[in-house]
Amino acid sequence: MKVFLSSDMEGTAGVVDWAQCLGPGPEYQYYRRLLQDEVNAAIEGALVSGATEILVNDSHSSMQNLRPDELLGNARYLSGRHKPLYMMQGLDASFDAVFFVSYHGSMASEASTLSHTYNPKAIARVLLNGVEVGESGINALVALGHGVPIVLVTGDDTTAEEASRICPGISTAVVKHSVTRFAADSLHPNEAKELIRAAAADAIANLSSAQLPAIELPATLEISFQNGDLAEMATWVQGVERVDARTVQVTGEDPIGLFRTFITVVLLTRAIVE
Ligand SMILES: [Zn+2]
Repeated sequence: MKVFLSSDMEGTAGVVDWAQCLGPGPEYQYYRRLLQDEVNAAIEGALVSGATEILVNDSHSSMQNLRPDELLGNARYLSGRHKPLYMMQGLDASFDAVFFVSYHGSMASEASTLSHTYNPKAIARVLLNGVEVGESGINALVALGHGVPIVLVTGDDTTAEEASRICPGISTAVVKHSVTRFAADSLHPNEAKELIRAAAADAIANLSSAQLPAIELPATLEISFQNGDLAEMATWVQGVERVDARTVQVTGEDPIGLFRTFITVVLLTRAIVE
């Protein structure tokens, strides 16, 4: 039984500041260890319920935050930059389940620690078929394309709620409650690990009733940017149409194609963010 684990960092218990999750300072060195422990807790839970093969796709910042020799379950480690499918690189139809570990809320959410949607300087809000989504919902397009259910999300309360909008029945491990974008009430790391371990074990144990992401096809992504220049630039990508001054939309029958278009827009607009 194969599990694909996409790990971010902002959703780790205790993390509330960019300095804690962007290297190379001492704060980052401390918090990356807490992330490693949370990733391992999810792997442990999966193994307890019968997973036999784990692929960890590091999806945070320059995507090399973990120590490969310390990953449990002899997990493979997909790390490093410029991955075409980004946070979902490495997933294919041979997998049985997807885990999202240490995820965070969307830029448009009310309060979520270090919230953003791929690029906080460019993207203000994303709707998928009219539903406000964060990275979990956008990434779900790839899981749907490969026919693999997303069965676990860990992070703060807002992130769990956002993931549940698109992934019915998903197991959630809420390791902190966000007070603002830069404040959270976190579980002790030991408690967080225990919660993640239990939720991961549950998720895999109940895999037979897991559902694919609830995204009707053809699907439409509506992307609102921080300013009109970014929206104009996004329309340089084929299929992307302007809706209003700061908003574009793109529709597609192929969920992975739609995700690729989104990533192209994200990478292109990086060129002119302030
Ligand atoms: Zn991140």
